[in-house]
Amino acid sequence: MDKKDYSPRTLAVHAMGAIDPITKAVVPPIHVATTYIRDEDNAYSSGYCYGRPDNSTIREAEAVLAHLEEAKAGALLFGSGMAAATAVFMALEPGAHVIAPKVMYWALRRWLLEDAPALGLSVTFVEMDSLSQIEAAIQPGKTRLIWAEVPSNPLWTITDIRAAADLAHTHGALFAVDSTVASPFHTRPLTLGADVVMHSVSKILNGHSDVIGGVLMAAKDDAYWARVKRIRGAIGAILGPFEAFLLMRGLRTFHLRAEAQAKAADTLAKRLAAHPLVAQVLYPGLPQHPGHDIAATQMENGFGYMISIRVSGGEAAAIATAAKVRLWKRATSLGGVESLIEHRASIEGPGTPCPSDLLRLSIGIEDAEDLFNDLDQALKAAHG
Ligand SMILES: *Cc1c(COP(=O)(O)O)cnc(C)c1O
Repeated sequence: MDKKDYSPRTLAVHAMGAIDPITKAVVPPIHVATTYIRDEDNAYSSGYCYGRPDNSTIREAEAVLAHLEEAKAGALLFGSGMAAATAVFMALEPGAHVIAPKVMYWALRRWLLEDAPALGLSVTFVEMDSLSQIEAAIQPGKTRLIWAEVPSNPLWTITDIRAAADLAHTHGALFAVDSTVASPFHTRPLTLGADVVMHSVSKILNGHSDVIGGVLMAAKDDAYWARVKRIRGAIGAILGPFEAFLLMRGLRTFHLRAEAQAKAADTLAKRLAAHPLVAQVLYPGLPQHPGHDIAATQMENGFGYMISIRVSGGEAAAIATAAKVRLWKRATSLGGVESLIEHRASIEGPGTPCPSDLLRLSIGIEDAEDLFNDLDQALKAAHG
């Protein structure tokens, strides 16, 4: 399929036109071979040598992702979102200084605190919605990377991507965005000036809560990106072909799902904001959210499928509310077709900056009325 003739939505439905060249099957087969035959002249004319770096099922999924994100240097799938994210830091030179958000995806924050120093990296955590805090943290000649998560877990803090990318570039640093929550349906950070974008494909891109995977995409095919590629191959942080197949299947309905989820989230955020037992609703689509104005300029097609609520009555009332739901699934993760509810501080554990009365909601594709009614009865039951 010629990319310039069709929208990303159409190309994703058709997996960029991938079919089986032998049988013409409309769904390409899953390639599981670990090795490929060398030509008599000692070359590898197919471009495929060994399964760790080379697999066509993986490459088909990468082509779809790169197109969705408008990634000129292409996409690299990893065995998890964490494998993808940590590769961004591992590809920096030893002694590099990086800047990351104070409140961000918890497992990566812990890795930056506990494991990154052993690689010779130093980290400063700042409020990523404050350009002045980012600028003050820059160590001239030493800061190599600014990492933002937009919107960031679990308060949905919004970084001005274009302004932060400009700031990074002025000081010779890379700007990378964990865009898992926004997904390319709502934001394409590379088009706003970011150098690297990362997604956990375990979330809305696959969308069915049955694949763990991650992806990195880059604007420029430069020496840094070559190092990232080499690291993935060298440490073998690859996705399996079956997972890549499931991901491609999920991507065929990505736009439909993302559209429905954002619409239901918008409805729920507004209704919950008026609920007497909810102290605060955090959703970038609400005008009262501190990041709303910037979100409105850099997000398209709505504001995503993630909402946090702060339950009146504090931590005990929040945990009790989660305990009383019947339809929502009480589980961590996000972006699946089924709606999830989670007391976030419980999973993040001691030292979390997450408010103790906060429930994180991932909105799926159920009837929004059913979702509201179930949460409403749970809030009422928890408050006796
Ligand atoms: C889930 C998630 C990750 C980690 O991805 P895994 O696939 O679980 O390794 C990173 N960032 C964000 C925002 C996530 O939601």
